[in-house]
Amino acid sequence: MALKIVASQCTVCGACEFECPNAAIKMKRDVYVIDPGKCTECDGDDPKCAAVCPVPNTCVPA
Ligand code: SF4
Ligand code: SF4
Repeated sequence: MALKIVASQCTVCGACEFECPNAAIKMKRDVYVIDPGKCTECDGDDPKCAAVCPVPNTCVPA
């Protein structure tokens, strides 16, 4: 399992990129995407990217 970023809601603030312990979040073209091969769904019910994201329900289970 991995998380994904809902592109239509993401403001491209970049906060999640630096929070991810696995460097799974990168800018691709003009949006942020999560590499499902690197995401370990860290911190169980409180993933770091979702915790830091200012937009609710934008880093969600894929
Ligand atoms: S859940 Fe954790 S490992 Fe996966 S993208 Fe978010 S911060 Fe990175
Ligand atoms: S923290 Fe949220 S709004 Fe900011 S780049 Fe990441 S997914 Fe987008």
